[in-house]
Amino acid sequence: KKRLLETLKGKESITKAGRKVKLYANIGSISDLGSVLKNDAEGIGLFRSEFLYLGRNSLPTEEEQFEVYKRVVETMAGKKVIIRTMDIGADKQADYLNLEEEENPALGYRAIRICLDRPSLFKVQLRAILRASVYGNIGIMYPMVISEEEVDQIIEIVEEVKKELLDADIHIGEVEQGIMIETPAAVMISDKLAKKMDFFSIGTNDLTQYTLAIDRQNPKLDKIYKPHHDAILRMIQMVVDNAHREGCWVGICGELGADTSLTEKFVEMGVDELSVAPALVLTVRDVIRNLI
Ligand code: PEP
Ligand code: MG
Repeated sequence: KKRLLETLKGKESITKAGRKVKLYANIGSISDLGSVLKNDAEGIGLFRSEFLYLGRNSLPTEEEQFEVYKRVVETMAGKKVIIRTMDIGADKQADYLNLEEEENPALGYRAIRICLDRPSLFKVQLRAILRASVYGNIGIMYPMVISEEEVDQIIEIVEEVKKELLDADIHIGEVEQGIMIETPAAVMISDKLAKKMDFFSIGTNDLTQYTLAIDRQNPKLDKIYKPHHDAILRMIQMVVDNAHREGCWVGICGELGADTSLTEKFVEMGVDELSVAPALVLTVRDVIRNLI
């Protein structure tokens, strides 16, 4: 079986009827790039950039971040690299940010909420990403969005950063912008959010947690934590329909995207991209190529 998968390297992820699916990989750090190349992913659908912020005593500088992003996009040589802005808080803590302990961290001060509350911190990351965009094909993706207001604020800050860079004669490339759809609120207003963004990526790990009201980290609830729940599948269809009406493309970057029992359903639903663990890329490609 492994040898059969090897033969799929360099081949397209396309159904027998000719429907193409973008098959990307999820990464957490530069050390995952070897596996991305080895498994012939067509891009990076989720770079969990928060890992740059963890396990250290101070914020990563603009320069440190720039070097990492540049290295990733150069390695991918023109293929799409979607960088998720830092998703810190909840289970991922960085002491130097002095975040208070919270009763409900998953529902707390985290991700885009921190970035919009501390724009100076957010801007450093955006500068680094925008500077790296000259070296390849970058998408920026924002986590945990719940409202249009947040998206408007994000767009305003990004425009400010772009202007600051241009005023300083620092070059930037074209970037696509998108949000993670991982809250039920984002699903329900996806028609409106799609007007403001280029793409969506559905984070089924958190979307399941927030929709089913089940802590994704509580092993006692493993048995009822079901991303296959019809509520989630209906949400995915709703998001795809709303997005496509506005010319926005849709991927899935949560674990569910790699579930081959659902690949056919995702293709039928119109999902444009699946981003999976690097080691699963060829397995999913095999399934796609065998679909009618
Ligand atoms: C998700 O929530 O599905 C997701 C892809 O993001 P993370 O697992 O990093 O929260
Ligand atoms: Mg998430």
